[in-house]
Amino acid sequence: MKTLLIKNLTKRYQIGKDKVFVALKPTNLSFDSTGLVSIVGKSGSGKSTLINLLAKIDTPSEGEILYYGKPYSSFKKSDNPHFFNKEIGIVFQSYNLLDDETVLLNVMLPALIGGTKKVIAKEQALDVLEKVSIPRELFDTKASKLSGGERQRVAIARAIVNEPKIVFCDEPTGALDSTNSEKVMDILKEISKTSLVILVSHNLQIVKKYSDRIIELEDGLIIQDQKINSLVDNIRPTINKRKSGGSWIDKLASNNYKKRFKRNMFSTLALTITLTMFNLVCGFLNNKDNAIMNACYKQLDFGSGTISEEMTIGGNGLLSLTKSTRPNLDDLLNKTEISKKYNICVNFSSILTQNIRILYDEQEIGDLIFTPVYSFNRQYIDSSLLVDGYFPYEDKLDYVVVNTTAFNLMKSAIGKNPLNELLFIDHSSETIYVTEDEEYVSDTFYLNTYIKIVGVVKEINYLPSPKIYYCHSALEEYTKEVIVTNLSTYYNKDITWYDRVLNAENHSYISSYSYLLFLKNIDDKTSAFDKSVFPSNYSFTSQSLILTDSLFNFLEVAEYGVILFLTITIIGAVLILSIMSFANFSDDHKESAILTSIGAREEEIQEIYLQESMANGIIALVLSTSLSLLLSLLINWAISRFIDLHNLIKLPFVIFLGHKFLFPLIIILFVILITSLSTIIPIVFSKKKSVKGELQSL
Ligand code: ADP
Ligand code: MG
Repeated sequence: MKTLLIKNLTKRYQIGKDKVFVALKPTNLSFDSTGLVSIVGKSGSGKSTLINLLAKIDTPSEGEILYYGKPYSSFKKSDNPHFFNKEIGIVFQSYNLLDDETVLLNVMLPALIGGTKKVIAKEQALDVLEKVSIPRELFDTKASKLSGGERQRVAIARAIVNEPKIVFCDEPTGALDSTNSEKVMDILKEISKTSLVILVSHNLQIVKKYSDRIIELEDGLIIQDQKINSLVDNIRPTINKRKSGGSWIDKLASNNYKKRFKRNMFSTLALTITLTMFNLVCGFLNNKDNAIMNACYKQLDFGSGTISEEMTIGGNGLLSLTKSTRPNLDDLLNKTEISKKYNICVNFSSILTQNIRILYDEQEIGDLIFTPVYSFNRQYIDSSLLVDGYFPYEDKLDYVVVNTTAFNLMKSAIGKNPLNELLFIDHSSETIYVTEDEEYVSDTFYLNTYIKIVGVVKEINYLPSPKIYYCHSALEEYTKEVIVTNLSTYYNKDITWYDRVLNAENHSYISSYSYLLFLKNIDDKTSAFDKSVFPSNYSFTSQSLILTDSLFNFLEVAEYGVILFLTITIIGAVLILSIMSFANFSDDHKESAILTSIGAREEEIQEIYLQESMANGIIALVLSTSLSLLLSLLINWAISRFIDLHNLIKLPFVIFLGHKFLFPLIIILFVILITSLSTIIPIVFSKKKSVKGELQSL
């Protein structure tokens, strides 16, 4: 059986729209299993076309090639790696070595790819390198450092390391001087004693000296087939299918990584920045609500507010007006759940405004806000806010607590530490009562008393206002004792200020149009946000909730900014990675073609590049995790200095959306996705380039 049998082999090229060029006219040939067969002819006569078809790196337009009786067209795609690796070897004019790898690895590769153990592959490589007379000191040199003659001999060593049955050589001496050409030809002659060597050359002198058979082509047609020496035709069984490789993939991947170290670092950096941003943004979104809440709880009057009944006057559109009145107390107590959570109290703000006069040594300290808390009892206030002094032991009007803002304001006003100092409240407020007989009775509510600052609390420093906290229960007791003089005289019975406000018409000014609410249990802070206890016609307003809302709004703007920034970063990183991938692809499609020509499988080649990008991914993952932890600490520290938000960024590495370790999983999947894409994209591109074209480009 013939080693190669060619029937009616034709190659046509489509040039232009409807023009066809026949590079190889129908050809019939056969080859025996040994000997050096030369294909000669002028440039453009179709020599390369023929040898490429024979070496199976090109497909014919018509006709068939049989390898030991088996048509090339019947080869499955999965048969090719074995064929290139074990059955044939190819030597090109342009060497096609992996330039950045050592001589030894270049020669070992076909053996390693074929599944030969490393030690044995090395032995075989050393053996063939000796055959082609490469000196030992060059074994660890990079292929790119060798001379042309040396490179071609290394290429031959690589082609024969797996003892192929056919060695194809397209112009192997085309780039060499005569001495080197002779050396190469001597080696090929030696090989041709046991294998078939098919050689393309236009150097007739050399061809005549070495060939056993010369085939001459002209314009794609055989014009002469001259047998010089008779050749043996041994039938040799095909070898077992090659095993899949292993160590060589890791080796090439790590060498590629080193080779493109700077570029890989750049990709890693881009990915690291993106992942870090992603971590931080998720950390921010994860804990911001919590952080805001915790910050907003830092108000001594948290959970206190007023409740009014809202009535819409005229129309439902934009121009409708609402009028507030004090709700009916019985309704509040019996028809709603409000009294379960809140203490409902009379609001004295009509007779005791927030901006009362406070004096020290007859000097007025302005801008202080007189704010009620239900009691200084631990149940009603957050005692952890106390930073100096103490909370009053009993509910008395003359013991007050200030926040640090008020403390500092007073301190600069009176020129000394106001703690335990006595201040004087000088307050009067006139009200007029209209009787059923349309008579006007005027009375004035006085609060003239010394107060002692016994404690200082530190509150959230977002939009701070200077507050003096007094005990509302004590004020209530006081109003129950003080008589409304003129009105009592008019009705001839004792009426207290408490009665006066409590029994006022709900829609009159003195009712303050509201009741005061105080959260019964400050440990149950979240219920302050639970609007469901308030029927829809009631409106609950609270200074502390207004502040909370404004902080939420402020951070909502920040949130949009942060998400926008993240989007830009991700787009930037994807662009950088794509550019890097494209650059890698430009480098690699030649390497891929070379590896294919010595029998590497497609998925093995993919794995080389996958490993390289995975390395980027893993490094970026580790770097970004550490960087995010560090940055989150730094940012949190900086923010907490500027505003009372603590742990604004909390990386959700442990629990995310209620699931354990969901976040790290998402990040890892994201990295795998990115790295796989940046591997697959160049490979998909490189498939569009023909292996033949790559290997022949000089
Ligand atoms: P050579 O004998 O110099 O190796 P080739 O086999 O490379 O010649 O080319 C034979 C002819 O086929 C040439 O005229 C060349 O221009 C033409 N040819 C080769 N490849 C292509 C192609 N891909 N498209 C069109 N024409 C081609
Ligand atoms: Mg050629």
